[in-house]
Amino acid sequence: MPELPEIETVKLGIEKTVLGSVIISTKIFRRDLRFPINDNLEKLILNKRVLGIGRRSKYLLFFLNKKTTLVLHLGMSGKISVRLKSECEYTLKKHDHLIMSFDNGIFLIYNDPRRFGFVETIEGNYKDYRRFRYMGIEPLSKKFDGKYLWNKIKKSSRNLKSILMDQKLVAGLGNIYVSEALWDSQINPTRIGKNMSLIDCQKIVVSTKKVLKKAIKFGGTTLKDFRQIGGEVGYFQNKLQVYGKEGQSCFRRKCKGTVEKSIISGRSTFYCSTCQK
Ligand SMILES: [Zn+2]
Repeated sequence: MPELPEIETVKLGIEKTVLGSVIISTKIFRRDLRFPINDNLEKLILNKRVLGIGRRSKYLLFFLNKKTTLVLHLGMSGKISVRLKSECEYTLKKHDHLIMSFDNGIFLIYNDPRRFGFVETIEGNYKDYRRFRYMGIEPLSKKFDGKYLWNKIKKSSRNLKSILMDQKLVAGLGNIYVSEALWDSQINPTRIGKNMSLIDCQKIVVSTKKVLKKAIKFGGTTLKDFRQIGGEVGYFQNKLQVYGKEGQSCFRRKCKGTVEKSIISGRSTFYCSTCQK
């Protein structure tokens, strides 16, 4: 499942290819995604120019002229490929649901086998979009600091893993980067919100930003040649420290612990109880 750094990388990839270009055709092959694609979507985006590309949580935003925003959510298995028209004729692949072509010869293909993703438009201010109404702050924004987190959790009886996965508190953090951030901060994911100090919260925030930024930086390096190869954007094998490493020795220097996996609030959580207290 793509998480925030992957979406940010997709955003950068799209920005590099279609920013400033006009959508000249839209082909939709399946409309029954997680939410059905609106009948007039093609009409709303056709002949509009991409004035900016944005991201909110895991939503990709194409800011078009006339105050239209195209929203793309990749769900569990969605992917975007970039192709050049001059390449040999594109053969439609299974699960290609949407193809948009642009006046600079680029086309973007949205493929999603599980169809948990969706495509919508927003008319007017994107901040008023109903799916953003109860969404928490961005983890990489200045607003997300130790004090914010501490205020939100100091009365909570929930464990840290669930708290950090709560999209109303902070948006876009998922299973992978919550495990990574807590490992980095040496704090155990089973600890309860109300038992955390302000200093603990500051540590978590610093680590969260650090692991996200590192992953985004790493993802960015994979973007270099994607225009030439016409491949997918934004998927990369990031070097994770703890996620998916159960049974392996802890990566922390001098720690003799082993990475454990446990299910917390229904989700796999990876941590080292030797160095994460
Ligand atoms: Zn350890």
